[in-house]
Amino acid sequence: MNGFVWKPATVGEALQATVSFFARQGIDSPRLEAEVLLAFGLGVNRAGLLAALRDRLPEEQAAGLGELVQKRLTGCPLQYITGRQEFWGLDFTVTPAVLIPRPETELLVETALALLGRSPKTGDTWIADVGVGSGAIAVSVAREIATAQVLALDVSAAALAVARQNAKGHGVAERIRFVEGDLLNPAIDGGLRLKAVLSNPPYIPAGEIPSLQREVACFEPMLALDGGDDGLALYRRLAPQARRALEPGGFVAWEIGYNQGRDVAALLAAQGFAEVRIIPDGQGHDRVVTG
Ligand code: GLN
Repeated sequence: MNGFVWKPATVGEALQATVSFFARQGIDSPRLEAEVLLAFGLGVNRAGLLAALRDRLPEEQAAGLGELVQKRLTGCPLQYITGRQEFWGLDFTVTPAVLIPRPETELLVETALALLGRSPKTGDTWIADVGVGSGAIAVSVAREIATAQVLALDVSAAALAVARQNAKGHGVAERIRFVEGDLLNPAIDGGLRLKAVLSNPPYIPAGEIPSLQREVACFEPMLALDGGDDGLALYRRLAPQARRALEPGGFVAWEIGYNQGRDVAALLAAQGFAEVRIIPDGQGHDRVVTG
């Protein structure tokens, strides 16, 4: 990479250099990202890194760290380099086969838990997570509700493998059934009656994808972002499927784009869903719709 001069003699020099490269690149939290990345490269935690600032860096180790820094400077998200992202207070493995879990999506988990808490307990509680990705939603819900059985669906076998690994890591794999397939089709074909259909489907209008942050547009899976021409393609197919698969009194809770509340609410209402609600996030944008 042009202008990438990297000859740190100590851990402290490596950190300083990384912070200034990241700041020049316009990375939001250059110091935090530099600490997390170098700690990862050295196999220590952040406290360990900060305790080692005066340590000399053998040339080979310095070169290894330099490669990580350059990778980040190409735009590759930090989480794909370290392979980790926190969600719902849990540590998740992520790979480029899955969307990096976003903090906004915790509102979907919170909303789903509130609705599940209110619904009567009638034997098995089957909850589907459509487009499970890393498993952030499925695993968080399974951890919170000990009686929940989760049907984790995805068209991507690679994503399902990541979700399965996260479920195992968090001790909930026996209560999550992983099935490869298109939206809710596997549940409908299997005749499973669901208490809830949760989903954070791809919802970005195809034409807007190029203008997303480079980190997102060039590195995250298109399959998890592309919502067709108007961003609503997946909701349009999912709404009638959910109607068929839900048991009486069941509900949907879906993440939506910042301006998609009315459209998705209308799709649900057209399928006969009642009590359709649009729930805004902390910034006042549409974020979750339920029915
Ligand atoms: N929230 C993601 C983003 O801002 C998009 C997630 C999705 O399409 N489901 O890039």
